[in-house]
Amino acid sequence: MTGTTLDDYTDRYARRVRGMTASEIRALFAVASRPEVVSLAGGAPYIAALPLDAVGEMLNKLAADQGATTLQYGIGQGTLELRERICEVMALSGIDVGCGASPEDVVVTVGGQQALDLIARLFLDPGDVVLAEGPTYVGALGVFQSAQAQVVHVPMDADGLIPEALELAIAEVARSGRRAKFLYTIPTFQNPAGVTLTEERRERVLDICERAGLLVVEDDPYGQLGFDCEAPAPLRARRRDGVFYLSTFSKTFAPGLRVGWILAPHAVRDKLVIASEAQILCPSAFAQAAVTTYLSTMPWRQQLKIYREVYRERRDALLDALADYMPAGTSWTEPGGGLFVWATLPDGLDAKAMMPRAIAARVAYVPGTGFYADGTGTGNMRLNFSFPPPERIREGVRRLATVMEQETAM
Ligand code: PMP
Repeated sequence: MTGTTLDDYTDRYARRVRGMTASEIRALFAVASRPEVVSLAGGAPYIAALPLDAVGEMLNKLAADQGATTLQYGIGQGTLELRERICEVMALSGIDVGCGASPEDVVVTVGGQQALDLIARLFLDPGDVVLAEGPTYVGALGVFQSAQAQVVHVPMDADGLIPEALELAIAEVARSGRRAKFLYTIPTFQNPAGVTLTEERRERVLDICERAGLLVVEDDPYGQLGFDCEAPAPLRARRRDGVFYLSTFSKTFAPGLRVGWILAPHAVRDKLVIASEAQILCPSAFAQAAVTTYLSTMPWRQQLKIYREVYRERRDALLDALADYMPAGTSWTEPGGGLFVWATLPDGLDAKAMMPRAIAARVAYVPGTGFYADGTGTGNMRLNFSFPPPERIREGVRRLATVMEQETAM
């Protein structure tokens, strides 16, 4: 180390670097990963539920038997084999040939995160507005802020994004003379709120965006992780024009492989590939082969069931513990799938200010402010239930409730 600080470079940074701030979540991970801390802060899938020996054997074979292709460069759009498999996966949730889904229009990405970055590269100029649920996915905020766009939040309730609020936000942006480019939405088992946009609202949201000339960026990493019932069909299954569908194998298989995708309107597909080639040349051939082989030779539907069962049990453990321990005045969402519960604290409690005391009490969560671009969310926190086992979840909530009670007494 030379002792050089970032500040020495301040005058040289590009303007967009001003929008780059450290994510609160990343900063938390170091403390939250200490073994004595019950971390309800992460968002990691429970990888131990995978048949790791069989996956290991499969990966071995891919290198040993097919290394000449799997360890070589590939094409920017991603392999045809994987894009075909992706179409089969999307068809399960209703995005099928009937609504124009084809391997031709799929672009494989390095996780859903690169998909978001590509969308930003293609559509956002500095000063453009992105409409997004409030709260929204922290990684998307990072991408939009790096693109020097402004995020305008649209509130949600237990039924997801509120259509009337979307109309108001669109009108407000137009009145201020700015240009909203797209609605970024996670309609199903939302991160961080855990809520799902109802059938009826899906149609209304699409109509509103169409009338306003807004593109829709539908981010759907969790749609296949429903516990109680099937999720409503994605927006892309209902409308093809102007809807970009993003998803990933991070939650249904393994995030370490970093494989996601975009299903794009045909006209945009080439631009996405060009932008992606400029960024990464091509997605990892090895990771793509791993996902393709997993989907074609291993019981992945059964694995999805296992993930759902593990998460359902953990979601129930979290909801039961919240009901048993949380002080009066606390409320929370009841997700039908996904990985997260969003809690609202009693009046006067500040989740961010309370964090050091929570860590001292050996429990971690993510303060709500991390999920807003505008500093709101002080009275909220995101709680993850996919990673810690049920008894740890219960213990974590018990610790959290004690901290909150002490805080109220302060
Ligand atoms: N979108 C949402 C809503 C997410 O929650 C995540 C991961 N937490 C991602 C995109 C990106 O995931 P990945 O890059 O692992 O596919």
